[in-house]
Amino acid sequence: MVLANVHLRHMETSLRLGRYALDRGETPVACIFVHTPTDRIVAYGMNDTNRSLTGVAHAEFMGIDQIREFVGSFELADFFEDITLYVTVEPCIMCASALKQLGIGKVVFGAGNERFGGNGTVLRINSDTCTIGRSYVSFPGVLRREAIMLLRYFYVKSNERAPKPRTKGERSLDKNNFPPINWQDYLERDAFVNEFGQDKEEHYYNETDWTEDILWDVIDKPQFTVIEELEAARHASGLWFKNKKIKH
Ligand SMILES: [Zn+2]
Repeated sequence: MVLANVHLRHMETSLRLGRYALDRGETPVACIFVHTPTDRIVAYGMNDTNRSLTGVAHAEFMGIDQIREFVGSFELADFFEDITLYVTVEPCIMCASALKQLGIGKVVFGAGNERFGGNGTVLRINSDTCTIGRSYVSFPGVLRREAIMLLRYFYVKSNERAPKPRTKGERSLDKNNFPPINWQDYLERDAFVNEFGQDKEEHYYNETDWTEDILWDVIDKPQFTVIEELEAARHASGLWFKNKKIKH
């Protein structure tokens, strides 16, 4: 199905940015914001908590700030309705809530966030009726193993830097085993099939990833040019929106 390919293409970009973050000593969590009707990248973000020493400098907020630069406050809600966020790790509860209040259209993520996930793993901020904002649909598991591997690289790296490295066995890098993904925690079978395609259905029940090979090329190589590419895309989108004057 075409939509699945669109998701893969954009998540690959987010993963490249995640790799870039990793090489700068940041937790490798990254995202891009895509204007769905035109398929344009309008913003990007990566985790910046270590450099900024701010626990809340999550990838999503960097992207939201970029969008605010070229979309006026009155237009924000209309604008966000057409936006899909591609983020390598499930938004935390705080970010999930911010996205809901901004009225984001859709979220696609890779790995679940076991401790703080706000799109189904811990809480369902995106679709519950007790938090403020407009509910949005959220799709997990896109290039999930790649997102998990980036996190594993990070933890192994930080352990090597630690003054008292743990013993090898404790933190060895596992490239072969991944926990099952319980799709049913996040979405109904119909939504799964509509989004990813009928041919993927078995994975819904088997709790497996629907992509075949892990994209090692994307996560194992330094991504020197990704920021330039994203800046260029963002700049082009900014000009385009200025000319178009966003209307509902
Ligand atoms: Zn967050």
